[in-house]
Amino acid sequence: MGFQQGELFSSDLAPWEIDSANETPSVSVVFPEPPFGPYDYRIPDEMAGQIKPAMRVVVPLGKGNRELVGYTLSVQIAIQPAQSLKPVLRIVDHEPLCNGHLLQLIQWMSRYYLVPLGQVFEAVVPAGVRAGAGTRNQTLLRPSDLASDDSAIKSLPTKQRQTLQQLILADEPLSVDQLKHLAQCSDGVIKKLRETGFIESYTERVMQFDPSTIKTSYERIPAPALSSDQRVALQTIFQSIESGEHSTILLHGVTGSGKTEVYMQSIEQVVSYGRQAIVLVPEISLTPQTRARFQGRFSSVAVLHSHMSGPERHYQWRRIADGHAQVVIGPRSAVFAPAPYLGLIILDEEHENSFKQETVPRYHARDVAIHRASLERIPLVLGSATPSLETYHRAQIGQYKKVALPRRILNRPLPEVTTIDLRSARIDVNRGAISTPLVKAIERTLADDGQTILLLNRRGYATSIQCPSCGHVIDCPDCDMPLTHHRDGSKATCHYCDYTIAAPNLCPKCGFEAIRLAGLGTQKLEIEVQQRFPDAKIARMDSDTMKKPGSHERVLAEFRTGKVQILLGTQMIAKGLDFPNVLLVGVINADSTLHFPDFRASERTFQLVTQVAGRTGRGDRAGEVLVQTYSPDHPAIVHACRHDFDSFSMQELEQREQFGYPPFASLARLIFRGPIQEDANEFAEEVVRRIQSEIARTGSKIRVLGPAPPPIAKLRGHYRYQAMLISQDAAALNSVLARIQSTTKPPGENLYLIDIDPVDML
Ligand code: ADP
Ligand code: ZN
Repeated sequence: MGFQQGELFSSDLAPWEIDSANETPSVSVVFPEPPFGPYDYRIPDEMAGQIKPAMRVVVPLGKGNRELVGYTLSVQIAIQPAQSLKPVLRIVDHEPLCNGHLLQLIQWMSRYYLVPLGQVFEAVVPAGVRAGAGTRNQTLLRPSDLASDDSAIKSLPTKQRQTLQQLILADEPLSVDQLKHLAQCSDGVIKKLRETGFIESYTERVMQFDPSTIKTSYERIPAPALSSDQRVALQTIFQSIESGEHSTILLHGVTGSGKTEVYMQSIEQVVSYGRQAIVLVPEISLTPQTRARFQGRFSSVAVLHSHMSGPERHYQWRRIADGHAQVVIGPRSAVFAPAPYLGLIILDEEHENSFKQETVPRYHARDVAIHRASLERIPLVLGSATPSLETYHRAQIGQYKKVALPRRILNRPLPEVTTIDLRSARIDVNRGAISTPLVKAIERTLADDGQTILLLNRRGYATSIQCPSCGHVIDCPDCDMPLTHHRDGSKATCHYCDYTIAAPNLCPKCGFEAIRLAGLGTQKLEIEVQQRFPDAKIARMDSDTMKKPGSHERVLAEFRTGKVQILLGTQMIAKGLDFPNVLLVGVINADSTLHFPDFRASERTFQLVTQVAGRTGRGDRAGEVLVQTYSPDHPAIVHACRHDFDSFSMQELEQREQFGYPPFASLARLIFRGPIQEDANEFAEEVVRRIQSEIARTGSKIRVLGPAPPPIAKLRGHYRYQAMLISQDAAALNSVLARIQSTTKPPGENLYLIDIDPVDML
């Protein structure tokens, strides 16, 4: 399944037929910055046959013939007279950066997400690979044509002849040192052979990264006997693998039902056919357990993660491209892993938002994986205890296959979940964040030698700083959002742009002396918990304490060994952890995600409560979950407490259908921004007017909402406006936006962006 060149040449001629006299070959090149291209360039004679699609070349651009690196798309016969085309100046890569399927994937992403091809290339090929990180130039020697001339060889002095024969026998290019060693000769002998033309030399970049720095030996973990549910699920996946066709399979399994075991045995099957698998996980550093489980089962696992050095990433990329890695595990960008023999893609926790990239190209790894799996004609498994409603709906209407693991392993019960109504339970707000029933439950758990997880989805100490006298709230001057108080160093920080000031003692508006810290963050919770349980060892996990690489692993290892009894933190502790001794989970405020101005707010809340509840009762002892909330009757919370995904999704899907939201329509979000409010607004109005007239002209069925200020109306000193486009006709939506994009030039310092299938609504 190598590089399918034939598909990529846009002429009907085979590459070797292109060379004829008046048919000059040319190549289309795209750039990662404006102007994006594609532009055609002439391939000079000396480069004939060396340029293929998906390589970088240096070409001249514009009147001044500025030299620019671009990516090649296709090689063809020049349509224009060859002399009018500028020539390619240099070749950067001597092999294509990706194979034919990946190149097709890049082209699809460019069309679907409305992003120039050159920018998609930069997202697909890691920076470390592009920079050749961890490599150096090496001179290599090979025999020349003269070396096959018997009589010429016979005329050589003995030592030279023997040396040349060693090189011929080696059957591969050798470095000078290697040849010296093999032939036991001096530099002078080799120098002579190069001068007389028996040996030719060339330079090549070779890997210098030392792979022994990567840990490779792991404790072998044998496979357990499967449960009957797991066997059924596995049969379905095997059938898909054997069909040789693409299919998407939703593996809907409750927390602790053994999904990972099903992934691993599916992969064993494809590996036994000599194929490779990609496993996409939300964030690898949060799931060291998953990684260890795969490394304990497969001999050759390539782990990709965001803290990786350029040389290591380059090394792994090569190893994958050479077909040496059986399993690739990584976050969303691992969907581009250049595996030549791909047999299966798995996307775990498919509902997670981190699969959406929030910078250009704003792709969703789930949709890219679907597209890649269909190009490669292989199965894709989407696993979750709380599937996204998009995925669930498609499985229900038969677009995806569906398999379920409705029970936990060994028939362990799902934990009992109880709500604590904060409206009545906490009459005295000053008593703190933890209600009496939760305090009692923690005491009980500590006495039983069990462990507790506390979830609070807000980092920092206080979430806002407000003057009790005049009501003034201290805002970020650049973002129009309240600053969060952090106790370490007593500072106030904007969580959107990192603007930081010393926390004020006086109200800056009225001078009142007792400015109040309102709201609750994880720092404040940690202090409260420590005061109430002075003997317990507590660890906090949020993006403030987890800045250093390796911090997750360290804290989780301490929790695993039982050194830490109470683990508290933001949603990063809600995911994927499997610790049998966790007997209690407390949700400090389940409403924190509920009242967001986002049509997915209920879904997020349901997912978060269900996922964190799933962290308990995973061992022999039963687990308990207490959910503090001001909205105990909200459907998201009621259904999460009953572990009732079916009822929740039915009710929520009805609402989505009624309001015409995804999965019943496609969505695109446009954000306009600029330093002057009126100008940004006027720009937004003008583009929306043009969208409206384009819709009218083409007769497309598209609803347009806005422009209006989004929840974050000002960010980093820029005023923002948003417009939302909703349609059941995704193709029409795409073509209207493509047209608008090609004709829009933002005035002055204004900018705009298009987000297809947006996840972030702030
Ligand atoms: P999920 O990914 O669905 O949350 P896991 O795959 O983490 O579930 O499985 C939960 C626990 O059950 C893990 O500790 C795993 O090793 C164990 N397990 C999985 N399958 C089996 C089985 N068939 N027999 C015994 N233990 C199992
Ligand atoms: Zn700010």
